[in-house]
Amino acid sequence: MPAIWGLSKTAASYRQAPRPEVRCDACRFMFPRLAVGGCRYVRGVIGASYTCDQFAPVRSARGSAGPP
Ligand code: SF4
Repeated sequence: MPAIWGLSKTAASYRQAPRPEVRCDACRFMFPRLAVGGCRYVRGVIGASYTCDQFAPVRSARGSAGPP
């Protein structure tokens, strides 16, 4: 796991999500999960329709690190 806010968008391969299942607003690290928000790992303003290499779905968050 990267450090909190440890990644630039370039380092995380932040990009437009190729499909809805991997969008930032379906990722456990986006907060708040609105059209525009922040991310636990990637610095800067995060758009809901983007994704990156650290994507992890909200629903498998149980038992893992990160906010509920
Ligand atoms: S997909 Fe990447 S940039 Fe988007 S919220 Fe998840 S970890 Fe952050």
